[in-house]
Amino acid sequence: MNAKTIRVAIVGAGPAGLYATSHLLEQLDLDIEIDLLERLPTPYGLVRAGVAPDHPEKKLVIDNMFNHYMNHPKVRFFGNIEVGRDISHQQLSEWYDAVIYSVGANSDVRMNIPGENLPGSWAAREFVAWYNGHPDYSHLTFDFSSERAMIVGNGNVALDVARILTLSPEELRKTEIADYAIDALSKSNIREVIILGRRSHFQGAFNNPELEELEHLDGVDVIVDSGNLPLNKVKLFDDIDWQARRKVDTLERLVNKNNPNATKRIVLKFLSSPVEIIGDTKVTHMKVVKNILQGETLESLKPTASEHEEIIETGMVLRAIGYRGKALDTLPFDEPRGVIANNNGRIVQGQTPIVGAYVTGWIKRGPRGVIGSNKKCARDTVSCLLEDFRAGLLSSGHYERDDVAKKLEEQKSNLITMQGWNKIDKEERLAGRSQERPRVKQTEWSQLLTTAGV
Ligand code: NAP
Repeated sequence: MNAKTIRVAIVGAGPAGLYATSHLLEQLDLDIEIDLLERLPTPYGLVRAGVAPDHPEKKLVIDNMFNHYMNHPKVRFFGNIEVGRDISHQQLSEWYDAVIYSVGANSDVRMNIPGENLPGSWAAREFVAWYNGHPDYSHLTFDFSSERAMIVGNGNVALDVARILTLSPEELRKTEIADYAIDALSKSNIREVIILGRRSHFQGAFNNPELEELEHLDGVDVIVDSGNLPLNKVKLFDDIDWQARRKVDTLERLVNKNNPNATKRIVLKFLSSPVEIIGDTKVTHMKVVKNILQGETLESLKPTASEHEEIIETGMVLRAIGYRGKALDTLPFDEPRGVIANNNGRIVQGQTPIVGAYVTGWIKRGPRGVIGSNKKCARDTVSCLLEDFRAGLLSSGHYERDDVAKKLEEQKSNLITMQGWNKIDKEERLAGRSQERPRVKQTEWSQLLTTAGV
């Protein structure tokens, strides 16, 4: 091996892992070989299974960029291999000079209220993975027979989910949403989606562009219930920031948008918290409490439950209150934060860095930020790795590139390489062409493995 060669395994081929790949490839003075190891048969993580299918331009741009890195001669893809199940961190650390974990946040925050486990109560994460054709979730069955669905949380995921629940079948059919989701959602009885925000309308976690999209939904009215705080009153506060001000402007436009042909509606219900999900064998109602804001300054205003409760009929509850990372193999886990324990990207045991082990993306910093936020996060992690390499801290691997591939193949049968992924990609795009859709996704493990030819 050349003295300057660094062999890096990146575990998780989603946005965080691919941005780390791009930063490593930028190091033109170094010979860096990268293996992307991925649990799924397909790369791109949340770009494939998280970004809403009605945002095709966003998907396309990112897909093309990531495809460029994936096809670099110094990069190899090995799909269908899971660290902690098929292979250990210990093995990877022996075969590679450095390992970067970019596995995302595969679990979710719970509301911890009675009735949360009733059929009909779901994590939005599960619904998102289902409609995006994630092979671990394609078997799920959602009941859309009720006329009302309720979403808890005021982030971008809540808005994504509300749009998907109210888009017309014609609009859904233009997208790459899973075929079974088009079938199920086309028969949906849902006419009203209530989004519950525990704080006020100017404190939503959603971004303004995502809020503005609600203005352009065909056949959907938007109702804004700002509780006991009138919509435009907050604009009189001196210390309201420009982002919050913009969101209030958008909400004002939404209130004034009159859609006489609307057949569905989205209700943005602020200052309201879930108290209980009610039902004998499945969700039938939800108890909600009205909140009031308390605090001296705008910044410190916090929602506090009032005595006013209401019971709302619904057959479906989706909690969109945040994702959460899961522990992986023997790596130290910061339980309260739900991230692999790290110091700016170096994985640490206590305060001591584990040599050659790094982390980036949501499993490093928690589930916050848009896809592009992973760029800087990955750059910081790669800087730590390069600093350690230049300081001579990384032990040089004892295996050549081909030997590592052999080791991986011995460890796990049916590995999917770049060639296999290209076959899946080509077939999905081809199937989409005749329907004028970006792609028709393959959503079953067996189908994906067969198409990849393994
Ligand atoms: P998020 O942005 O963290 O929003 C979570 C929401 O849940 C907040 O409104 C939060 O309220 C609320 N919440 C938390 N616990 C609650 C509880 N016990 N009861 C009621 N409400 C509760 O999470 P997310 O929507 O899952 O999104 C995750 C990340 O992905 C975000 O950074 C988001 O921007 C990003 N994302 C981006 C896009 C896009 O760019 N289009 C799409 C999807 C996701 P408080 O604010 O009061 O805590």
